[in-house]
Amino acid sequence: MRLSRLALATTKETPADAEIVSHQLMLRAGMIRKLGAGLYTWSPLGMRVLRKVETIVREEMDAIGALEILMPAVQPAELWQQTGRWDTMGDLMLRMTDRAEREYCFGPTHEEVMTDFVKRDVRSYKQLPATYYQIQTKFRDEIRPRFGLMRAREFLMKDAYSFHMDSDDLAREYQSMRGAYVRILDRMGLDYRIVAADSGAIGGAKSEEFHVLAQSGEDALAVSSEGSYAANIEAAMTVPGDGERPAPTRELKKIDTPGVTTIAALAAHLDVPTEATSKAIVVMGEDARPVLLMLRGDHTLNEIKAEKLDGVATPLTMADEATIRAHFGAGPGSLGPVNTNIAVVADHALAKAADMVVGANYDGAHFTGFNWGRDHPEPRFADLRNVEAGDASPDGHGHIQILRGIEVGHVFQLGDKYSRALELSVLDEDGRAVTPQMGCYGFGVSRIVAAAIEQCHDDAGIRWPMAMAPFELVIVPIKADKSAAVRETCERLYDELKAAGIDVAYDDRGLRPGPMFADAELIGIPHRLVVSDRGIEAGMLEYRGRGDAESGEVAADVAAIRQKIGRG
Ligand code: ATP
Ligand code: MG
Repeated sequence: MRLSRLALATTKETPADAEIVSHQLMLRAGMIRKLGAGLYTWSPLGMRVLRKVETIVREEMDAIGALEILMPAVQPAELWQQTGRWDTMGDLMLRMTDRAEREYCFGPTHEEVMTDFVKRDVRSYKQLPATYYQIQTKFRDEIRPRFGLMRAREFLMKDAYSFHMDSDDLAREYQSMRGAYVRILDRMGLDYRIVAADSGAIGGAKSEEFHVLAQSGEDALAVSSEGSYAANIEAAMTVPGDGERPAPTRELKKIDTPGVTTIAALAAHLDVPTEATSKAIVVMGEDARPVLLMLRGDHTLNEIKAEKLDGVATPLTMADEATIRAHFGAGPGSLGPVNTNIAVVADHALAKAADMVVGANYDGAHFTGFNWGRDHPEPRFADLRNVEAGDASPDGHGHIQILRGIEVGHVFQLGDKYSRALELSVLDEDGRAVTPQMGCYGFGVSRIVAAAIEQCHDDAGIRWPMAMAPFELVIVPIKADKSAAVRETCERLYDELKAAGIDVAYDDRGLRPGPMFADAELIGIPHRLVVSDRGIEAGMLEYRGRGDAESGEVAADVAAIRQKIGRG
């Protein structure tokens, strides 16, 4: 491509409203332009990268036998009402009404439409298994659209869905899809981790996420030092710790703690470490009565684990101060299990604790010397907390480290949640009606472009992995206006490299070298050739890889260039 024809629109200034580097660089490189909150146009330059991602994804989906389809973005409400998600999706879903007052949404995902499609055509076990995929625009009315395409409202997803006669066959296809995701990310050359995940609103049993590692990642990943355990912190288990609970050594004693409402203040006031204190959090139960959750003072509540507890309301709802006062007689900051008839669920780390500090249910007072069994019946113990760096790995091997990641893919074994709700039924070999098992597999096609930049950039701009770069190589002429030899060499190389299958850009914009070099670095072209009179006389070109500290040389012929850029 001749860069004079690409309508490049680069800028030096960092846009003020872009917080993270990928958003800044995509704007500076002119890959995207904002239309409204969470809405972006892809420029011709941006499209080149997006298309490369789509091609890799499509090739790997086709390779495992997934069949490409294209479903409507606009979906009738009835299907969503049948699965109950018309209500549970809440404000995330953009809803609309047509001229006949029928309700629709702009699809945030496609399980319902997909299942409806299969229901129309698939009758017999002979037609299964089947896996379908599409690369299509989704709309989710995110609470905080931000970071450009990282968390957009309208974005491009590859979503795939598979249908099976039994759960073993679903498990097989799940592994096959997982393998395709591994190949996609390997081809893109990104550093990523596969982690166990919470299935969230989509539902289902097993699910794993694919995360591109980057400091700016919104997700915390718990990975064991031995590499044998990896989970999103939302789903990461904790272990209760070894040993027996020590016997009580102290009497229960009420002490004044005026004005002490935080763990840090409590620990300072009593001159004990924070882990010797406890934290009380009051959430609403299913029966509208509160439930008291207790954690060690230095631990933090994992809200997803709390929400899954039997008896706790979904979605997780913190009790308000009036409710707390009505049931405990004190405000947050002085709450505990003593003298209440409220159900208590304690984190399993507290099962090993003796002589604890707990709130007294009396403003400005705590108990010391609190012991389970003696001062309160044994509570229900459960895994309630977030895992932390240094914790023992739940699989017994090594310790937990926390990494930051960007979720680019999510694979689920859904089971029969959607096939049952939408009454999809298929006859088995014996003529019996079976509800098929389903899997679903999402991949953030637009998000991964931003994620790759988060991982691959430097002060000068983007450093694309080869497979994602808008061009593999750029030819930069020096003083082309004054030298016919330079112009001719550039034209010849451009034609020959194109003919050799190299995705080559020719910077024929007639700019000075500085701006051409700066643009090539900003938009992240992996290889640069500089053509000058001096070089031509010696039969050589100046060569520089995007990450190289110094320029080198390469002979001015296609075979040598291909060798140099690893495409020989
Ligand atoms: P997140 O936790 O980041 O909100 P999600 O778990 O809701 O994502 P899925 O429903 O699993 O997302 O969607 C599949 C993939 O689509 C995600 O792994 C992600 O790569 C991409 N994706 C989801 N939401 C967005 C968004 N708002 N902007 C860009 N990509 C997104
Ligand atoms: Mg997800």
